[in-house]
Amino acid sequence: MRPDTHPLPRPAIDDQQPPWHAQAAEQALQTLDSSATGLTPAEAAVRLATHGPNRLTAAARPGWLRRFAGQFNNVLIYVLLAAGFTTLWLEDLIDAAVIFCVVLINAVIGFIQEGKAERALEAVHAMLASHATVLRDGERHEIDAGDLVPGDVVLIESGTRVPADLRLLATKNLRIDEAALTGESLPVDKDSAPVAPLAPLAERTGMAYAGTVAAVGQGTGLVVATASATEIGRIGRMVSELQTLATPLTRRLDQFARQITFFILLVSVATFLWGSRVGGLPALDIFLAVVGLAVAAIPEGLPAIVTITLAIGTAAMAGQRAIVRRLPAVETLGSVGVICTDKTGTLTKNEMTAVGVMLPGDSLTVSGAGYAPEGGFHADGRPVATDRHTELLGLARCALLCNDAQLHRDAAGRWTLAGDPTEGALLTLALKAGLDLAEETARTPRTDSLPFESENRYMATLHHDHRGRVFALLKGGPERVLGLCVRDAAGLPLDAAAWQARMDGAASQGQRVLALAECELPARTSELTLEHITPRFTLLGLVGLMDPPRPEAVAAVAECQQAGVRVLMITGDHATTAAAIGASLGLRDGNPITGAEIDTLDDAALRTRLGQTDVIARASPEHKLRLVANLQAGGQLVAMTGDGVNDAPALKAADIGVAMGQRGTDAAREAADLVLTDDNFATIAHAVREGRRVFDNIKKSLLFILPTNGGEAGLILIAVFAGLALPVTAGQILWVNMVTSITLDMALAFEPAEDGVMRRPPRPASEPLITRLLFVRIAYITVLMVAATFVVYGWELSRGHSIEVARTAVVNMLVMSEIFYLFNVRHFTASAFRWETLAGNRIAVWACVITLGLQALFTYAPPMQALFGTAPLDAWSWLLITALASAKFGVVEIEKAVLRRMGIQRM
Ligand code: ADP
Ligand code: MG
Repeated sequence: MRPDTHPLPRPAIDDQQPPWHAQAAEQALQTLDSSATGLTPAEAAVRLATHGPNRLTAAARPGWLRRFAGQFNNVLIYVLLAAGFTTLWLEDLIDAAVIFCVVLINAVIGFIQEGKAERALEAVHAMLASHATVLRDGERHEIDAGDLVPGDVVLIESGTRVPADLRLLATKNLRIDEAALTGESLPVDKDSAPVAPLAPLAERTGMAYAGTVAAVGQGTGLVVATASATEIGRIGRMVSELQTLATPLTRRLDQFARQITFFILLVSVATFLWGSRVGGLPALDIFLAVVGLAVAAIPEGLPAIVTITLAIGTAAMAGQRAIVRRLPAVETLGSVGVICTDKTGTLTKNEMTAVGVMLPGDSLTVSGAGYAPEGGFHADGRPVATDRHTELLGLARCALLCNDAQLHRDAAGRWTLAGDPTEGALLTLALKAGLDLAEETARTPRTDSLPFESENRYMATLHHDHRGRVFALLKGGPERVLGLCVRDAAGLPLDAAAWQARMDGAASQGQRVLALAECELPARTSELTLEHITPRFTLLGLVGLMDPPRPEAVAAVAECQQAGVRVLMITGDHATTAAAIGASLGLRDGNPITGAEIDTLDDAALRTRLGQTDVIARASPEHKLRLVANLQAGGQLVAMTGDGVNDAPALKAADIGVAMGQRGTDAAREAADLVLTDDNFATIAHAVREGRRVFDNIKKSLLFILPTNGGEAGLILIAVFAGLALPVTAGQILWVNMVTSITLDMALAFEPAEDGVMRRPPRPASEPLITRLLFVRIAYITVLMVAATFVVYGWELSRGHSIEVARTAVVNMLVMSEIFYLFNVRHFTASAFRWETLAGNRIAVWACVITLGLQALFTYAPPMQALFGTAPLDAWSWLLITALASAKFGVVEIEKAVLRRMGIQRM
């Protein structure tokens, strides 16, 4: 890890200044020439220019020489190097030169391919940059955490990764997980008081350090150090881990390749002994044959192809707004059987609009859309004068003050929201009622608050006026709030049943209903705690908010269901609301499960209930963990979405944890495998599709590469044991593998998805990589390959051609049969007799053109002839080669037709 090379971005503090943690908050603000309302945007820009961006530079990659050298660390290369030196020692200079050249070129190809894959992943990783909420001139702004400067005032809340070193100015129940820095696994309590100058890092409770994560509560802090001046920057540790190229699949394939290699080496030794003792061949010939055998049979290119396919898939997903944080997720995505998704913001737009207000004496509808405070209130179609409607004004005041959102009006006159959409809608409602935020806050300022946590389902604030009156405002889920109310704003005792009925009415139309309430508190109460939230509130009324489903989510749910992927909606919202939204999305909405019900059910009963409905309502993050476990117990791979800190365990437990890029906390994003930059359910469906495509392409690569290796190896083995002159030389085999590994082998990584990918059930997680069908195809193609090459070989010799000509024909037969076969493999079972076969994958066509060009050089260019011992072919040879390759193509198409008849779409 290299620290930033910027001039030390530490603000000048003279030596008399105590360290930040020992300074009082005000003093720290003064030292940095800032204030509780933050810097001005202009000042922040100036400081950004002097201090540089708040970014740690990524770990330096090993130098290119090291990475290049790494390419030689592979059994096949050892075999080749040994062979090269042996041939040199045997004074067969040409073969030695060929072998060394191939080793070098192989390393270069591997180096370039790996670099490509790594760059693709790095680009994806860079998209995960984190954000910070700052106060600039007293206004909240969401900015790139890289733009923070010393002196900025930053807001953090549960789930936030602290973006820079902060001197805390104010905290509310704030606890921070400092494991990244101190190794301490329990979250540490924080407050704003200074501590002793000599306190060790772990005891500086007045500080929040970059890279640590807020576990609960809220706080504001003054940025005192950024980038490499932060503690984490100074110890030089990267905050987030980088992707690696290894995945379970590549590791499995690596192991597979190593086992094959070992086996091949054994066979090679046996062949050598047999050939030299029994066959009586000259040592050099048999040695070269064995080298050829090893080269032919070892599928050394396979792990590289898989890595590249995964990397290409990852980049494609990123282009569709799904960022893969862990490469293995790409493989797993294709087998996902259940997607558990949030409702608000994922299936719906999360653009809340208050559409109805239920007051003790009145039910009003609200007109206007979006966050613009334009619109009014109507009762039975007639406009309502808001200024004399005390019940409405009381409710609107609560909506305005018990609220952390802010509305901004941009230069173009559009209203944009900073904060929670639910609260934004309430703010707009209050403005529509004619209230003024500045006026109301001046009259009854807020002194304390209990932030919204999804477990509590409410938020409360404490206010006082200037005549000694102190009161609390409460807003939240109706069944919580109704239980805390004893009377309504009309002064009557609370008729819970009547309110419940009004609430159900709104909820059954898919509205999110919030209840608003207030209560008087003893004068001089200055702190609000959970103990204050007891049944003594006065209900001001209910507000119905509309959050329409995303149109693309409706289509995506249908697509998933068609693909055999179940969609479960898990929401904190009310069951009736959830069911209404679920129905409009095409989910089974009857009899939704609620969080409270989950708590009473045992696992068996829960599984039965899960079989009955797709809607889970009033669920908290803890329920998600149980849901994941029970769905997984049914043998399915589960994808789970989440955004809060408390969602992190469920995201980790799920096979695919999906975090929201916009709404999600840093904690959720870091626990996830996949991050959606647009928070949209449709993006998950795309990612599943992409995952299936990637997995298909990996299988197609196996289907393509393995028979080639098998065919070549079979050819040599049979020749040696039959005592024939070798139909191909070691150098020629090297040539074939080298040419195809940069051309044909790569083409399948770019193969588009099969037409039916989202119409077939997910691949069972337990299914082996090489299924029986796949194995059968590989085996018979191998046999056909061997047969075709022997036919060509025998025919050329029988025509009286030299061994050079016969060998050249064999090499071209191998390559031509691969070219034709490539178009067989593009689809597992769909017919290749259509135009799409040539038009559907341009890269495949170009790969073939390049391959043919190289083969022409190989056959006709004199230097190549000298190097590889080739000779020109006549038209008859080409005719036979093409005829055999197309016959093989036809056979595979017949097999595919049979599979199609049997209803098989994949292998
Ligand atoms: P969802 O799964 O739909 O995102 P949440 O967990 O965010 O649900 O919210 C659950 C419930 O908490 C809502 O139905 C609402 O009653 C209440 N709620 C949501 N946001 C707020 C808020 N900012 N203040 C008070 N209550 C809220
Ligand atoms: Mg929510």
